[in-house]
Amino acid sequence: MAQPFVFDNSYARDLPGFYVNAVPAGGPAPELVLFNEPLARALGLDPQALRGENAAAIFAGVDVPEGAAPLAQVYAGHQFGGFSPQLGDGRALLLGEIIDPQGRRFDIQLKGSGRTPFARGGDGKAALGPMLREYIISEAMHALGIPTTRSLAVALTGETIYRETPLPGAVLTRVAASHIRIGTFQFFAARSEVEKLRQLADYAIARHFPELKDGANPYLALLIRVRDLQAALIARWMGVGFIHGVMNTDNAAISGETIDYGPCAFMNEYDPKTVFSSIDSQGRYAFGNQPALAGWNLARFAEALLPLIDAGQDRAVELATTAVEGFAAEFELKWNEVVRAKLGLRQHDAAIAADFFALMEQAKADYTLSFRALAAAAEGHDHPVLAPFAGWLSRWRPLLVEDAATVLRRVNPKFVARNHLVEEALAAATAGNLAPLHTLLKVLQHPFDEQPGFASHAEPPEDSSTPYRTFCGT
Ligand code: AMP
Ligand code: MG
Repeated sequence: MAQPFVFDNSYARDLPGFYVNAVPAGGPAPELVLFNEPLARALGLDPQALRGENAAAIFAGVDVPEGAAPLAQVYAGHQFGGFSPQLGDGRALLLGEIIDPQGRRFDIQLKGSGRTPFARGGDGKAALGPMLREYIISEAMHALGIPTTRSLAVALTGETIYRETPLPGAVLTRVAASHIRIGTFQFFAARSEVEKLRQLADYAIARHFPELKDGANPYLALLIRVRDLQAALIARWMGVGFIHGVMNTDNAAISGETIDYGPCAFMNEYDPKTVFSSIDSQGRYAFGNQPALAGWNLARFAEALLPLIDAGQDRAVELATTAVEGFAAEFELKWNEVVRAKLGLRQHDAAIAADFFALMEQAKADYTLSFRALAAAAEGHDHPVLAPFAGWLSRWRPLLVEDAATVLRRVNPKFVARNHLVEEALAAATAGNLAPLHTLLKVLQHPFDEQPGFASHAEPPEDSSTPYRTFCGT
């Protein structure tokens, strides 16, 4: 039988003591729900080996493919500001790593595959809805050009799991540049295991940023690189109105990819205070708080790295503090560039940008539609969404780049994974009808195209004044 994956398991090999071996629990009736064939091809997997029952058994965690070395990674993390010294993959397993045809290394991870030694009170399982939700949104983010983990498959296990109600159990197969988190560093730092910390940092540098290895201070350089990647990522999120919802240090990948889609969402009406998580009553993870949160998480990363940055504590603190303080400026740089592009400006213009956001907020205008309508406005067409912007538009027009409408349509998506559409697709899928899910996935693959046949997918929900709440994606 052909083997789908050619594994090369560097984490298992190089980092003993950073994980525990474990096997997926499987389930009585594996059934493939989604398989991402374009991704499989891009990764160089053998599609023949990923057809039919074979695939269902692998992606439901029933069969462990040859060469896999399934393991649960240990990590810690600050969640809602409080430190949990012991988290780790409670319901996920790294099957192994593959190298794509371009030589890039990827983790293949099962999520929802059963209890591990880090499961604490949890059942180690996942329901179909949240796994499909991660699939939809991660693939939508990828199509928007935003760094993210990918989704290769969702499979039913045939088991019923219990949340508020009985639900079909499912496994998501996730593909990531790695699953190393800020929290992975925090785990060893909190235990003062400096040699392990160094081993992890060396591994992370070798895997993600090999060019930093031979610099004067590779660990400080690692901090700065992660800072810059986080700044760029959050700016990109905010450019499409994305709210992550659980920006804890265990959900911050040092690769700079978006990871752990739980109660996340795309904003409808523009309001920087928009919160999407039902457990975030304080607004900690609100849309406009995301840069501050990323900066806060980065400070936790810096603390963890201190013993590596300099042998002298004072010097280490001084270097790390300067690096962390640079986050705000780095974010501003990245954000200004995102906004410049979204407004089609020849150069950054703080006043025109600030006024656009203020008008959107006042008018409770839809974030995605407002930006998208600028392309039509640049062509001289009126768009109802921009009615309150008339004065602003006349100030804006002279500032535009060449061929602005085309440029704007490449930057401002027509389609984002709006919650009401995601929820409709998930509800139908959970009831056995996959058609709305397939349509949604198809539309979201080409977010910048007009796709006139799918106009309703571009619309905000009818009553978007009711704040949307997603319930934690577990
Ligand atoms: P998350 O909210 O998905 O980022 O998960 C936070 C932590 O809780 C991680 O350590 C997860 O592995 C763990 N966890 C979440 N759901 C479960 C579950 N159903 N069973 C066991 N562990 C879980
Ligand atoms: Mg997580």
